[in-house]
Amino acid sequence: MTRTKRRAPTQKGKSEEKPKASLQDKLAKLGIRSEFDLVLHLPLRYEDETKLTELGELKPGESAQIEAAVLASEIQYRPRRQLVVQVGDGQHVLYLRFFNFYPNQQKQLQPGTRVRVIGELRSGFFGDEMVHPRYSVIRSGDSTPLPERLTPVYPTTAGLAQSALRQNIARALEKLDLSDTLDATVLADLHLKPFAECVRFLHAPPPGAPLQALEQRTHPAWRRLKFDELLAQQLSMRKFRRARAQRRAPSLPAGRQLTQQLLRSLPFQLTAAQHRCLAEIRHDLAQPHPMRRLLQGDVGSGKTIVAALACAQAIDAGYQAALMAPTEILAEQHFRKIDALLSPLGIATAWLTGALRRKEKTEAIERVASGSAQLVIGTHALFQGEVKFKKLGLAVIDEQHRFGVAQRLALHDKGAAKRKGQTIEPHQLMMSATPIPRTLSMSYFADLDVSVIDELPPGRTPILTKLVSDARRAEVIERVRRACGAADEFAIQPAGRQAPAANTAVGVGAQAYWVCPLIEESESPSRAAKAADLQLQTALDTFATIQKTFPYLRVGLVHGRMPAAEKAHVMQGFQSGAIQLLVATTVIEVGVDVPNASLMVIENAERMGLAQLHQLRGRVGRGAAQSVCILLYQSPLSETARERLRIIFENSDGFEIARQDLHMRGPGEFLGNRQSGVPLLRFADLERDVDLLEAARKLADQLIEQRPEVAERHIERWLNAREQLLKA
Ligand code: ADP
Ligand code: MG
Repeated sequence: MTRTKRRAPTQKGKSEEKPKASLQDKLAKLGIRSEFDLVLHLPLRYEDETKLTELGELKPGESAQIEAAVLASEIQYRPRRQLVVQVGDGQHVLYLRFFNFYPNQQKQLQPGTRVRVIGELRSGFFGDEMVHPRYSVIRSGDSTPLPERLTPVYPTTAGLAQSALRQNIARALEKLDLSDTLDATVLADLHLKPFAECVRFLHAPPPGAPLQALEQRTHPAWRRLKFDELLAQQLSMRKFRRARAQRRAPSLPAGRQLTQQLLRSLPFQLTAAQHRCLAEIRHDLAQPHPMRRLLQGDVGSGKTIVAALACAQAIDAGYQAALMAPTEILAEQHFRKIDALLSPLGIATAWLTGALRRKEKTEAIERVASGSAQLVIGTHALFQGEVKFKKLGLAVIDEQHRFGVAQRLALHDKGAAKRKGQTIEPHQLMMSATPIPRTLSMSYFADLDVSVIDELPPGRTPILTKLVSDARRAEVIERVRRACGAADEFAIQPAGRQAPAANTAVGVGAQAYWVCPLIEESESPSRAAKAADLQLQTALDTFATIQKTFPYLRVGLVHGRMPAAEKAHVMQGFQSGAIQLLVATTVIEVGVDVPNASLMVIENAERMGLAQLHQLRGRVGRGAAQSVCILLYQSPLSETARERLRIIFENSDGFEIARQDLHMRGPGEFLGNRQSGVPLLRFADLERDVDLLEAARKLADQLIEQRPEVAERHIERWLNAREQLLKA
C-alpha cells in the first residue's frame, strides 16, 4: 500500500520527497556564505536572560524571566485549541498559553517539572498569563547557570531557529582568526576599538550594556564595524582604479584641429565649468590607459557639447566615437544637433537605433564596420549582435543611470580590440544629470573619475514652480491659454473658428508641455503590461481632452508606444514651433531640449519621484524667458507625496534635491541599476557616518601607498568573493 502510494507521481508524493532545505541554503538566504559572514551577522536586539524575576514582582507589559514548577497542564478547546500550563512558585500562579504546540510539549510539561520561562506578562480573564513564552525545562539535579551575557536575537528566515543560528555564530567566533587588520596606533588615532573585542561585544554584550546606542548603531563597537566596511569598500575601489591604469587604451592626443574648429563654430562660449571638465577629459583621452569618467551636471548645464568635443578629439586622432542614449527621442535629438555641428567640418555621423528600417540599419552597420562613419549615435542598438566597430576610441554614454551594468559592459566589449596579444579598450565617458550626492560619489562611485559642470550657461532665468490642487484646474488652463498666445486673439471668438494652419507664422507665444498622469509601473510582467496599456490610454484621453480644451492651439502628442518615426516627427514639430502645446508622457523626461518651451504642466505630480520631477521640470527654463512649472496634484496627499512636493517646490538645485531624495529613500533605490547584485553597505549609513567615510578614505590612500599587505588582508577579510561584483 505504502509502496504504491509512494510510486504514484502525485503532487503530494513529490513534495514529500523533496529534500529539506539544508542549513547552508537557509544561511545563504540571509546572505551568509562564509564563516566570516556568520561573524558579521549581527543581532537585531537582545534579551536579558541573565537574571530571574520573582513571580510576585512581574509587571504587566514587561518581558521577564522566571523559574517555576508546573502545577497542571491541559488542552483546552475554547475559544480555540490551546495548551494551557499552570505554573507557580508556592505563592503565586501564572498561566502559560500555547496555541501551536507539539504533542510532546504536553508530555514535557507534566506537573512537577521545573521550567525557566521568558515572556511578557499580561492580565488575562482568568488571571496573570504569558502567551507563547519561550521556555526550557530544568531537569532534576541539573541547575543550568544563568547566562552572563545578554542573549542575541538575530535576523533569521523560515525554518532556521535562533538556537541554531546562535550555535553556528558562536562556533565561528571561536574558530576564526579575528585578529586585527589594523595596527594599534592607527586604531588609537581614529579612536577605534579592536575588531575582535567589538564583534564579541556585539554578539553578546554584558547586562547593563547601553541598549539604545546598540540599537541605533552609534555604539563604539558598531562604529568599528562600519569603519571596517567602508575601508574595505574604499580599498577595493582604489585597487580597481590601479588595475585600470595597467590596462591599455589608444592614446588620443589633444589639441589637433577639429576640436578647435568645432569650438569656433559654436554660437556660444563654453562656460568656465564646461572648459574645466573638457580639459579633464582631454587629458584623460591622451593617456594610453582607459578613461572611466563620469561627467555630472545638472539638467541643462550643457553636457552634450562637452561630449561632442570629446568625440572630436577621438576622431581627430583617427578613431571612431560612439554616443549611446537611453531613448529613441534623445538619440534622435543628439543626432540632429551633433550632426549639424560636425557635418560642416567634414565629419560623417551615422545613426543607429532599433527602430530603423532593415535597409537603413544594414547601411549604418556597414558604415560603422568600414570606419566611414566616424561618429555613431544611437540607442542600445549600438552594441547589439551585428554591430562591429572599425576602430572605436571613445564610447560616450548619456544618462548613464538609465543603463544597466551589463549594457555598459557590452558596449565596452564591442569596442575592445586585440593588438599584438594585448587588449586595447576604448575610453569611456558617462554622463548623468541625476546628481550623485557627495557621500555616494565618495563611496559607490569612487572607482570613477568625476567631472562636474557646476554652473548653468548664462542668461537663464530660474524656473518658477507652482503647486496647484487639481480643484483649481480651470486657472491652470487659462494660464496655458495665455502663455501660448491664444487668449487675446481667439478666446472670445465663437467656437468652431478655424485654428491657424500649422504653416502660418509661428511664435505668437511660448510653447508648453502638458505631462500626462503617470500610471504606476509594476514588477509583475502581466501587471506591467496592463499598466503600459493603461498609460497609453491615459495619454490618448489626455490628448483628446486637451485638444477640446484648447481648440485654437496646435496640440501634439508623444508617448512611448508610438513608432519611432512618428515620435521623431512630433518632436520635430515641437522643435520648429509647428506644435504649440505638446501632450507627453514621461518619455520626454530625459534630455529633450526645446528652448522656446517655457511652461510645463505636470498632472498628478504627487505620483512622481523627485528625480523624475526634477528632470521633467528641467525641460523648461532653457531659454531667456521666465519659465513656469505647474505641479497639479490630487488631494488628499500622502505624507511622502507631500514631502516630495515640498522638496521640489523649495529647491531648484539638483544636488540638493538628490541629497534630500537620498535621505528619504536610502541608497538602495537611489543607485538603481548601477549596483544591481552588489550588496549595499550593510552597516554604515552614508548620511550619518560621513565622518567615518572621510576617515576611511584617508586611511585607504595611506594603506595602498605604504602598507599594501595590510590593505590586501583587509579586503580579503571583508570582501573575498564579493569583490568581483563590485568591479562592473
Ligand atoms: P544637459 O546637460 O541637460 O544635457 P544640454 O547639453 O542639452 O544639457 O544643453 C542645454 C542647452 O544649453 C542646449 O540648448 C545647449 O545648446 C545650450 N548650451 C550648452 N552650453 C551652453 C553655453 N555655454 N552657453 C549657452 N548655451 C549653452
Ligand atoms: Mg543631456
